[in-house]
Amino acid sequence: MIENNKTVAIIGYGPAGICSTKCSIENGLIPTVFEMSSELGGVWNPSIGKCWDNLTTNVSRYVMCFSDFDYHNDDYDIFPNYKTVYQYLINYVNHFDLNKYVLFNSMVFKVERINGGNTIDDDNENDDDKNSKIKITWRNNINNKTYSKIFDFLIVATGLFSKPQSSSVYENELKQFTGKIIHSQDYKNNENYKGKNVVVLGSSTSACEISAEISMVTKKCIVVGHENSFIYGKLLPNENGTKLVPLDSILFQRSKSYEQQSLSKEDFSKLKKQMNIKYCPNQIKHINPTSKIIVNSPNDKTLGFVASLSYVEQVEKGLISVFCGNQFTITSSSGKTITISNSIGESFKEENIDFVILCNGYQPDLSFFDENILKSVDYLPSDSKRPVCLYKNIFAPNSKNIAFVSFFRSLFVAEVELMSRMITMIFSGKIPYPTDHEIQNGFVNRENNNNNNNNNTNDPPYFLVAGSTVLCDQIAKEIGVLPDFEKLKQTDPKLYELLWNGYFTPATYRLVGCGSNPKVAKEMIEKVNKIYNNLCD
Ligand SMILES: Cc1cc2nc3c(=O)[nH]c(=O)nc-3n(C[C@H](O)[C@H](O)[C@H](O)COP(=O)(O)OP(=O)(O)OC[C@H]3O[C@@H](n4cnc5c(N)ncnc54)[C@H](O)[C@@H]3O)c2cc1C
Repeated sequence: MIENNKTVAIIGYGPAGICSTKCSIENGLIPTVFEMSSELGGVWNPSIGKCWDNLTTNVSRYVMCFSDFDYHNDDYDIFPNYKTVYQYLINYVNHFDLNKYVLFNSMVFKVERINGGNTIDDDNENDDDKNSKIKITWRNNINNKTYSKIFDFLIVATGLFSKPQSSSVYENELKQFTGKIIHSQDYKNNENYKGKNVVVLGSSTSACEISAEISMVTKKCIVVGHENSFIYGKLLPNENGTKLVPLDSILFQRSKSYEQQSLSKEDFSKLKKQMNIKYCPNQIKHINPTSKIIVNSPNDKTLGFVASLSYVEQVEKGLISVFCGNQFTITSSSGKTITISNSIGESFKEENIDFVILCNGYQPDLSFFDENILKSVDYLPSDSKRPVCLYKNIFAPNSKNIAFVSFFRSLFVAEVELMSRMITMIFSGKIPYPTDHEIQNGFVNRENNNNNNNNNTNDPPYFLVAGSTVLCDQIAKEIGVLPDFEKLKQTDPKLYELLWNGYFTPATYRLVGCGSNPKVAKEMIEKVNKIYNNLCD
């Protein structure tokens, strides 16, 4: 690879930073990675400790992998434990020899844009100036010394999960609670909860998975959720209902994703309802009025969905009591008694509560940026769906040499990899920057987020959105790695069929263009389809 002598600083060495490092090298950039912990992997790193012992991925490992490197072990579970993902990341960095670019134990605490030695800090900065550089200042956690270095580019790969989301409930309503309060990041397994009464606050994946696990041993397990989400199984019935298949094999199928993409908002909403009826009938009142897990939202507006293996089953068995919908939350506490109320005036008291587990999510930490940069991306860490506003979830409006990778929630690994490829191709000059006009037109402020499509690159980042496949294809097309499906229909109809009507595989993006390896990619696509077809038969 010919280096173009342009340097790139990458902050974070989780999955996003790891693949940005690889892509930087492939595109001739010279990367330096800053990772504040002593190991790779971010969320998946056991020493960072955000995952609990039995955490398994919410999508299958055939989707949760990079396009040119699979798990190399057919015995792994289809939804691997987090330690398997961690091992996968270790194998990946070793295979591509990436660790030599990393400064571990190095916490970045200041990022400045400089121009000819001066900090760019006024509102009239001219970032188009090719002399604009990035100054990174970091602290080595071992010797406590501070260092600075100047780079041509910056990739921010610090993720959405830097610190627990602040909770006013913790500071106010639980002030008088004398039991123990923990955040989900400190939950490891159900040992401490044997025979205890536990309230779990939250309605997303961690609330479902943790309550499902502790309810196997608790005396009482109560889930209090603000929002109301449909809970999908990680395995869903296939087309003819004969087998259970991983949810990603259904949700990310290309032909269906394109069909969904072309629907109006009303039709898309209808389709979501049909899917909920098909996959979560026991959560819909008119289908199952006596169900213990009715999803209840007056206008269907806020409904998301969560993937969980056994939460619904535990609720149906009566092992979890649910207070969800109508904005149920904890409203006060006294000693070990907790009051739970909703927006329509109902109130319930739960006594002898030993633990409250806060599953209210995480927020990013971009405190290393100055005010101007944070203002330009409309930084609002408490907005869990869109903490930063970016062009295509990547670029800030006036900082062309700064890119964000993985500041969104959706198909994750495949999209992050495509974004990393795009960013590093742009930084290395292989493909042009988006024009100012494109950025201005495509940039969506929090206030004016009212586009017409169901899902496009400007929509709020959202996990498991239908349309993720289309989103990946859009990025792939821009960087020249999307196969020409119409042409393929003629030249290789079998492969076309697998790509269009078969199962989503990141290897699709290694069939053509920069960094392609068509033979290996085709083998991978065939292998994954064969595995899924065998599951489906
Ligand atoms: C409990 C849990 C379960 C999850 N399960 C799934 C799942 O099943 N499937 C899925 O697709 N996603 C899942 N996710 C989302 C997960 O975060 C992403 O898969 C992925 O880890 C994000 O990668 P990342 O590199 O962007 O961020 P991270 O993995 O968070 O890595 C960011 C890295 O940046 C470093 N860093 C941060 N700030 C600085 C700084 N100032 N200086 C230096 N280094 C810094 C951190 O130490 C960390 O190593 C889960 C998240 C959590 C919390």
